[in-house]
Amino acid sequence: MSAYPVTLDELHNAVQRRELEFYFQPKVSFLTGEVSGAEALLRWRRDNGALLEPDSFIPLAEASGYITTITAEMFPRLLFDMDHIAAESGDPLHMAFNISAQDLLGQRFTGLVDEAVGRRRVNGERLELEITEASVLAHEEAIEHNLCALVDSGIPLSMDDYGTGYSSLETLEHLPFSTLKVDQGFVTRMFESSKSATLVKATVAMAQMLGLKTVIEGIETHGAYAALLHSGGMEGQGYWLSKPLPREDFVTLLQNRRQWPASSVGLLRMAQLGHVWQHKMLMDMAYAYLGDESVGAEVLHAMHMDVSECVLGQWYYGIGQRFAGYPDFVNLEKPHRLMHLVCRLLCDSLSAGADRGAVADVLSELTRNATEVFASLERLETQALLEELH
Ligand code: C2E
Ligand code: CA
Ligand code: CA
Repeated sequence: MSAYPVTLDELHNAVQRRELEFYFQPKVSFLTGEVSGAEALLRWRRDNGALLEPDSFIPLAEASGYITTITAEMFPRLLFDMDHIAAESGDPLHMAFNISAQDLLGQRFTGLVDEAVGRRRVNGERLELEITEASVLAHEEAIEHNLCALVDSGIPLSMDDYGTGYSSLETLEHLPFSTLKVDQGFVTRMFESSKSATLVKATVAMAQMLGLKTVIEGIETHGAYAALLHSGGMEGQGYWLSKPLPREDFVTLLQNRRQWPASSVGLLRMAQLGHVWQHKMLMDMAYAYLGDESVGAEVLHAMHMDVSECVLGQWYYGIGQRFAGYPDFVNLEKPHRLMHLVCRLLCDSLSAGADRGAVADVLSELTRNATEVFASLERLETQALLEELH
C-alpha cells in the first residue's frame, strides 16, 4: 500500500483539470489591528466535491519532485487571484506564497518570477515567498544563489516554521530573509509551557535585533492574541483571526474592513529592548578595549551612530511619533541625544588613550542618561497599556 492517500497520477490529473485552488488566510497587523496581508494556501477540490488539504498531497508532491510543476502551474493563478482581490476590495495586499526548496534548485520558478516582475505583472514588494526552515537547511548551499537573486528582484523572503529546523544563527546572518514565521507549535503550547512562551518572545526579540520582522502564526484563541499583542511581533495569523477562506469569502472579509485589537506598545518595547541592548554592547566594547587595545577603535567608532539611526532613534523619529503628545515621550529626547554625544566622547577619549578614571566618568554619564531614557520608556509603556484597558 502506498504511504500517501492519493497517487501521483491522480495529482497529475488534478493539476491538468485545474482542481487545485487557493484559499487565503489573513495576516493581521498587531499595530493597526487590520488585515495587512494574506497567505495563499493550496486546496484540492476533487470532482466528488471533497476538499483536500495540502497535508494529503504536498508530501507526495515533495517526495516525487512534482512540487516544482505544481508551483509553476499555480504561480500565474496566484497573480490572477491577487489582481482579482485587489480589484474587488480596493486593497493591493501583501500576498505570501509557499514554495519548496526544490523550486530553487533549478531556474524554472525564478524565471517565472523574473518575467512577472520584469513585465510589471506584479509588484515584487507585494509578493512574499515563504520557505520552511527545514527545507532551507536541507539545501542551504544549492539554493543560496537563487534566494539572493529573488531578493535582488525585490521579493521579500520569509523563513517559515522557524524553530523546527535547528538553523544556526549563522544561517540567518548570511541568507537574505527579511521575516521569521515563528512555528505554530510554540504558540499552541504557550499556555502549557512557559519555555514555549519564552521561546516565542525570545525569537521576536532576537529577530528585532537582527533587523528581521516576525509573524506569529497558530493564534487560535483570544487569549493567545492578547498574550502576543505586545510581544513586538509585526503580524499575527491563526484560526481566532480567521481560518483560510475561499477567495470570494476573503474578498468579503476585506470589504467589511474587519478590525481586531491593536497596540503600539509592542514596537515601543522593541525600541526599549534595542536601546538597552545597544547600551550594553557599547559598555562591553569599551571594557574589552580597555583590556586590550587591539580590540580596535574602529569597532567602537562603528557603533557610534546618529541619534536617528539607532533602534530607539528609528522608532522615536518614525512610528513612535504617535506618542508625540505624551510628556514621557517628549522628555526622553534630551537624554537620548546626550547619550549619543557621550558615546562620541567615549570613542574619542578611548582613541586618545585617556586614562581609566576619565573613561569611567564618561561611562557613568552614559549610564545616567541611558537610565533616564529607560525610565521614560517604562512609564510611557505603562500609561499606554492602562489607556488600552479603558
Ligand atoms: P504552513 O505554510 O505552515 O501554513 C500554515 C498552516 O497552518 C495552514 O495549513 C493553515 O491552515 C494552518 N493554520 C492556520 N492558522 C492555524 C491555527 O490557528 N491553528 C492551527 N492548528 N493551524 C492553523 P494548511 O493550509 O493545511 O497547509 C499546510 C501546509 O501545506 C502549509 O503549512 C505549507 O507548508 C503547505 N502548503 C500549503 N500551500 C502550499 C503551496 O502552495 N505550496 C507549497 N509548496 N506548500 C504549500
Ligand atoms: Ca507558510
Ligand atoms: Ca508555518
